[in-house]
Amino acid sequence: MLELGIVELKNLITNKKTTCEALTKAYIEEIKKSKTNAVIEVFSDAIDLAREMDKKIAAGFSGKLAGVPIIIKDNILYKGHVASAGSRFLADYVAEYSSTVTNKLLDAGAVIIGRANMDEFAMGSSTETSFYGPTLNPLDTTRVPGGSSGGSAASVAENLCAASLGTDTGGSIRQPASYCGLVGIKPTYGRISRYGIIAFASSLDQVGPLTKTVEDNALLLEVLSGYDQHDETSSHEKVDNYTAYLNKPIKGLKIGVINSVEAMVKGEQTEQAYNKFKNFLVDSGAEIVPVDINNMELVLPVYYIIAPAEATSNLARFDGVKYTRRSPRAKNIEEIFTMSRGEGFGSEVKRRIMLGNYVLSSGYFDAYYNKARALQYQLRQEFLSAFKKCDVLVTPVARGEAFKLGEKANPVDAYKEDVFTVSANITGLPAISVPFDNGKNGLPIGMQIIAPHFSEGLVYTVADYVEKHKNLKN
Ligand code: GLN
Repeated sequence: MLELGIVELKNLITNKKTTCEALTKAYIEEIKKSKTNAVIEVFSDAIDLAREMDKKIAAGFSGKLAGVPIIIKDNILYKGHVASAGSRFLADYVAEYSSTVTNKLLDAGAVIIGRANMDEFAMGSSTETSFYGPTLNPLDTTRVPGGSSGGSAASVAENLCAASLGTDTGGSIRQPASYCGLVGIKPTYGRISRYGIIAFASSLDQVGPLTKTVEDNALLLEVLSGYDQHDETSSHEKVDNYTAYLNKPIKGLKIGVINSVEAMVKGEQTEQAYNKFKNFLVDSGAEIVPVDINNMELVLPVYYIIAPAEATSNLARFDGVKYTRRSPRAKNIEEIFTMSRGEGFGSEVKRRIMLGNYVLSSGYFDAYYNKARALQYQLRQEFLSAFKKCDVLVTPVARGEAFKLGEKANPVDAYKEDVFTVSANITGLPAISVPFDNGKNGLPIGMQIIAPHFSEGLVYTVADYVEKHKNLKN
């Protein structure tokens, strides 16, 4: 039963084949047995919440997630529970309020059973930068689950919950989804409120669901989306009924492939799967349209200037004075700042803070930060004009299958991981990872579908078609 997704579990609960309490207890038992370090903490009130939910369901409550156990990433605030963003600095921080997404989950009837491991402050692609130690990929424990939402992905892949929430600033939902054989979407910027999310790079961050099926993903996105007065960057755009976009043909759809991406894929582990994917789309009646996007080779420098610049500013509030851990060695105000920050942050976070301060410093501001912003604007225009020629764009999600623990210890090697994912964040476009193939080590490989702003429905149409037909046509 634990291998089921949201839709199936909800049916079992509604038809009284199981209870939310029994399900929650069973998942918690699995978490206790797990050796992957996907879940940092099981919330002590989870079983009580499940019991309450059973009572509500018996009294007629039928929310979209009624009784479904879900795990959230450690950077999502849930009132009264620790949220540490995978950092020593916040290891004891108890959330004073709940994020909007947490409230939306609870209102829909979900039971939040725990928090998932992640790269510290969501900086990373492997979950190895976490203060709590790395998470192992449940499909092969010598490998990483991806990151930064690696704990969220691993917990679903290992059947420790029905679905989970992650956040994605440069690929952190999609790449772990690809590495763990799941469906993960980074919605349009502004689709989901960021209120109560520990910020990394505010102009790029989005929350999104990691699920076993496309249908579960669409359902969860419906629950999470919508304008929120607490986040003025959230959009008033109407929330679609995303599940209505499933079970549709893709015949006649114009699917764009980016010429420069074709070159980037050459020689990578995912090249074969990507070629197979294009053939599959053609066999399905779609039309492949090659498009040009200038400066695609600059997406990584643009991302690795903008994201650290914003992170530097967002992380300035962690100073050992207010709610963060204060160094016990500090003897004066200067030492409170320097020692608390020195001890509280891990080395990747320090690297990003230095990088961010560098590109924002006078003298380099124009040379780096402003140039990156100008390119960001240009890339957005390039993508928008590409969508005049095609309905969606496709690329691989990652360069390969899940890599070995420790394999990308050099930060630049890790940064290169994000080459196919960061453009959706830079442009604010919605993008999904859907499992398509297996690589030479037998591990999953996801394909990415990118659509115009607020066209998540179209993303789901294509992803759902891929999920349902890939084995028939492969
Ligand atoms: N791997 C990217 C980084 O390290 C993306 C992380 C994310 O999306 N949170 O910045």
